[in-house]
Amino acid sequence: MSENTDWREELSSIEVPISVSTNALLTACLNRLIDTGRLSAEDGINLMNEPSLLGVSSLANMVKHARFSDKVFYNRNLHVNTTNICVLACRFCAFRKGFGHSDAYEVSAEEYIQRITPLAKNIDEVHSVGGLHPDWNVDHYAEIYSAIKSKFPWIHIKSLTAIEIIHISKISGITIEQTLRTLRDAGLDSIPGGGAEILVDSVRDKICRGKESSDEYLEVHATAHEIGIPSNCTMLFGTVESIADRIQHLIRIREQQDSSEGFQCFVPYPFLPDHSRLPEAQLATSSEVIRMISVSRLMLDNIPHIKAYRMNLGDHLSSICLKAGADDIDGTVGHEEIMHDAGSTTRLDTPERGLLRLIDSTNSTPVRRNSTYDEFTEIQFEDSSIPLPIASR
Ligand code: SF4
Repeated sequence: MSENTDWREELSSIEVPISVSTNALLTACLNRLIDTGRLSAEDGINLMNEPSLLGVSSLANMVKHARFSDKVFYNRNLHVNTTNICVLACRFCAFRKGFGHSDAYEVSAEEYIQRITPLAKNIDEVHSVGGLHPDWNVDHYAEIYSAIKSKFPWIHIKSLTAIEIIHISKISGITIEQTLRTLRDAGLDSIPGGGAEILVDSVRDKICRGKESSDEYLEVHATAHEIGIPSNCTMLFGTVESIADRIQHLIRIREQQDSSEGFQCFVPYPFLPDHSRLPEAQLATSSEVIRMISVSRLMLDNIPHIKAYRMNLGDHLSSICLKAGADDIDGTVGHEEIMHDAGSTTRLDTPERGLLRLIDSTNSTPVRRNSTYDEFTEIQFEDSSIPLPIASR
């Protein structure tokens, strides 16, 4: 149910919208996708500069439909952050706190379990990242994962960014691979992909100096893929990068996927500026967000899922992105700090039914998925809301 592997053939049979058929660049890209499945970096830059956003998003929507028809995927998950204490100070980050800060916190294994317990029967995944704690080693995280698995064995643990994994390995005095193997054996199931920012080191030097390099980010994911841990990858755009940098980011991820094949989903999201230290950031308009989703769909032929991350984008913009190339809208989430500290106003109390309504409003079929995209439940959503009463005298 997940993906049509003959998507190129399917693409050749989809009726071409006039916004694509009347545009030389988009027609050439469509033909290249049908013939080879892959666009060049130059195509990517041209698509970023193409005046017709409607045309670019329509082409991306065609590819999404060729791969997944009208299905849109979501999951039932909960976010739990382990700590906001971080020894780094990335300039775009509104989440981190210094060790002695009055709002700094650390979540123990017991507290973690307490957060999950009330929702445990209704979620399939816990999504968990945090800052780079100065003292926590691999045993600390292994203890948390073991505690979760022993109490809630059905819950998939998606946790840790690449820089957290590098930091934990350094504190523990072991290799990245040893760190990942230890955490996997304790219960870590997949890696969410945060922290990619822009995989161009000159940009990283301006927005997150001291963080891992582009090569190191990809090496951590490659190592995870090698030992059977799937991951997602992200992109933070709208800081100080150029269009060429964004396309370079997509190309690097695509090349990595060619070699290690473990990326499940790509999650591009714009920089949110509240409480950050990046006044020179260009920021991204809603149009740019839609275009970035569309170009990601068109360039990343080897990564199946493109996510409209509603915790960052908000529900309205996310629903537009579902018609512009995205096929996934993430989950119920329940609790989120990283985007909300930076200015997101996305509601956190949206129940599963609200997600279904959002997906249904885009004329799409909601499909509940597991975290590894290999178990699916198609949901027949019927809007049985009680109509508002008509006022009478
Ligand atoms: S983005 Fe991550 S590594 Fe950077 S300061 Fe924030 S919590 Fe720390």
